[in-house]
Amino acid sequence: MSLSTNTAKESNLALCPKCHRLNKVTDDANQQNSIRCVRCHGRFYQRKPNSLQYTLAWNTVALIAFIPANLYPIMIIYSLGIGDPSTILSGIGQFVDQGLYPIAAIIFTASIIVPLLKIVGLYLLVYRAYTGVRLRPDKHSKFYHALEFLGPWSMLDVFVVALLVAVVELGFVTSVAAGPAINYFTLTVIFTMIAANSFDPRLLWDKKELKEKNGY
Ligand SMILES: [Zn+2]
Repeated sequence: MSLSTNTAKESNLALCPKCHRLNKVTDDANQQNSIRCVRCHGRFYQRKPNSLQYTLAWNTVALIAFIPANLYPIMIIYSLGIGDPSTILSGIGQFVDQGLYPIAAIIFTASIIVPLLKIVGLYLLVYRAYTGVRLRPDKHSKFYHALEFLGPWSMLDVFVVALLVAVVELGFVTSVAAGPAINYFTLTVIFTMIAANSFDPRLLWDKKELKEKNGY
């Protein structure tokens, strides 16, 4: 085994996530126990316990919430008192029809591409960390941090709807109300953020070490 692939865990060390001090892990036998940082006294784990299970569970509820987020209307446009509900996709279609391509592109990216990319990406990471199939810890860690960074940007969609409601509300004849899908969409974003946060990217390195040690 080369020195460069040594993990802190193998050397009985653990990094405090709050103050970044390297702590010695004395109770090696019981790795499910939390460690108390010698500098900031914060409690943390060498590896997040049951990380893959939590990630899978949160990711699945995010995917479930994404279904009503797309089936229910996200906003209802009232014109002369008659309501015209539109879902995320039909709303995008309406913006395209009106030639508002930048808004259509922002909503499509923020409300369809980003959440789906994140959910599928997290499933992939859990699968790779669990099975070790075609595992590239360096690439997969970067992929994970990209997903983590991307997550909150989905809220852009909620802000676009909120902005639209506020702007159009000023008009007299036409008004816009947010539909029930906005709640499910917000839940999808929150659940994927928790799912990404539950995933411990260091498990990718553990799996690589394990594979190299066992020579498979
Ligand atoms: Zn600390």
